[in-house]
Amino acid sequence: MINRLWNSLLDLVYPPRCYSCGKAGTQFCPTCLAECIPLTPPQRPQPLAADSPLERALGIYPFQGSLRAAIHAFKYQNAHPLAQILAPLLFDFCAWQNVVLMPVPLHGVRKRERGYNQAELLARNLAKAWQLPLSTDLQRVRATEHQVGQQAQARANNVAGAFEWRGQQPAPSHVLLIDDVLTTGSTFEACASALIAAGSTAVEGLALAKAIIKPASPLDSPE
Ligand SMILES: [Zn+2]
Repeated sequence: MINRLWNSLLDLVYPPRCYSCGKAGTQFCPTCLAECIPLTPPQRPQPLAADSPLERALGIYPFQGSLRAAIHAFKYQNAHPLAQILAPLLFDFCAWQNVVLMPVPLHGVRKRERGYNQAELLARNLAKAWQLPLSTDLQRVRATEHQVGQQAQARANNVAGAFEWRGQQPAPSHVLLIDDVLTTGSTFEACASALIAAGSTAVEGLALAKAIIKPASPLDSPE
């Protein structure tokens, strides 16, 4: 109650502004929200290697424009209330059944620095909307470098072995991993490897946005 009053007071003194266009009133305004158009199906799933531990990895919206600005604020500017605005972009668009939701975990140190895990906030909203169970027993046991700007192989090496299932054995059979941004899929794959080693049989990944990383050289195929 005190918190709510305090927040209302803060809103009066510092009215929220759209993290994308700066318009006063809300953290992500309806105009910027309306700019988020889902990718069409051929672009939505990430192509995966034949031996990938993942069934599939989907990113629903292009990681650009207003959504990119909002996700950046959501991650790095303490804009955790954006979860309430961003999660419906997923749960109004698609639905899953018979899976356990798991956010891609942050390492404990990074979570303490940030104060929250943005993927977990999204996953909690999705679990509520879809009435599905959520588990946070998948943990990041090794801190990893920031992946921004890294190429595919470097990303895969960076996250390999970084995750461990710390819940009851076996891990849930069908898992839907949740993250804010899908780039190469290497983070989802490292999570899936840990889950399959712990007994999961099918692991999918769902991200709010899908980023395109540029190939390392003109000889590499574009992603
Ligand atoms: Zn706006």
